[in-house]
Amino acid sequence: MNIHEYQGKAVLKSFGVAIQNGIVADTPEGAVEAAKELQKQTGTGWFVVKSQIHAGGRGKGKIVGSEQRGVALAKSIDDVKTIATNILGKNLVTLQTSATGKKVNKVFIAEDVYYPGETPTKEFYMSVLLDRAKGRNTIMYSTEGGMDIETVAHDTPHLIFKEEIDPKVGLRDFQCRKIAFNLGLSGEAFKGMTKFVAALYKAYEGTDSAMFEINPVLKTSDNKIIAVDAKVTLDNNSLFRHPDLAEMRDVSEEDPTEVEAGQHNLNYVKLDGNVGCMVNGAGLAMATMDIIKLSGGDPANFLDVGGTANAARVEQAFRIILKDPKVKAILVNIFGGIVRCDRVAQGIVDAYKNIGDVRVPIIIRLQGTNAIEAKKIIDDSGLKVFSAITLQEAADLVKKSVG
Ligand code: GDP
Ligand code: MN
Repeated sequence: MNIHEYQGKAVLKSFGVAIQNGIVADTPEGAVEAAKELQKQTGTGWFVVKSQIHAGGRGKGKIVGSEQRGVALAKSIDDVKTIATNILGKNLVTLQTSATGKKVNKVFIAEDVYYPGETPTKEFYMSVLLDRAKGRNTIMYSTEGGMDIETVAHDTPHLIFKEEIDPKVGLRDFQCRKIAFNLGLSGEAFKGMTKFVAALYKAYEGTDSAMFEINPVLKTSDNKIIAVDAKVTLDNNSLFRHPDLAEMRDVSEEDPTEVEAGQHNLNYVKLDGNVGCMVNGAGLAMATMDIIKLSGGDPANFLDVGGTANAARVEQAFRIILKDPKVKAILVNIFGGIVRCDRVAQGIVDAYKNIGDVRVPIIIRLQGTNAIEAKKIIDDSGLKVFSAITLQEAADLVKKSVG
């Protein structure tokens, strides 16, 4: 699960990570209040108005139909109001969103931290994530902050450093110092960076997260080290241990069909193709997507209905798949191990009749206990449903249906 920048920063702050402070708002008036409050707290006269969406590249992104950037500097409270008005309720398009963009419901009004001073500001990159191949948490960092890290990795891979953490002993002080050294820091900024790294790692571990990405980490002109951005991906499997973090979920950022499927405990992931699929078991679902591809179709989704493919679940699954207008055919692939195929077949026939307006052909492959009886139920149903017993037969039928 992803959370917004303003939520990520609150989490960082609670673990003692220095951040660019700010206050979130969802109206232009609220943005003005936030700026006034921030001025009281920090004395800042300049602000940045930051669109809160679950996508990066906001600084370069533009609000649809205007020249307004998704992150913008405001040199007065009046500016804050104008920018917040330009942004709120509009769609922001960035390199990481679709062409229509994502609607901005909230802005984070932050203190300007790029003020001029004795030494120049410098942007770094830092992330903490699990290196699955090594089975170790890893801190990835670079002197090239503020830009797209994929570009840095492609053009100048030698400027990306990695520090592995031994799970037996955790992050050691010397590793924090090594990172600060490799980033070319000295004096107060060196100390600030060692503290920053230690606190950031504590936040990552303490929240059982999957990833923390801070781009940029900023060295201010008065040598403070702070997080200017915060991209946090929580591990869904650990959310039950963190009810406060689970509450940060913003369903408006998620695919509405996926949200609905989740409410019915269906494991559904929307894809871009034209053949819907309903399968029991994740492994069989992956194999089914392969067979759809091999037969010239494109899977419209991943859907694991789970072990109990009863009539009610099958009906829910059909309804979810049919919400996608791109779907031209549905392939049902169920292995009757625990469930009996004839019961599943009856469930499918009942669900079909309940829904009433199934607009696409359905190809059903039932294999396992009572598969022959199941095929007979489907063949005798008189519905626009085609049965198959082998996967190849099913694939051929899919091919015929989507042309
Ligand atoms: P992203 O574009 O979605 O990654 O959003 P960021 O939070 O990283 O902000 C984008 C860019 O806005 C940063 O790389 C900075 O260049 C700029 N920015 C952020 N905060 C400030 C600030 O306080 N002052 C100024 N002048 N620029 C800022
Ligand atoms: Mn960023």
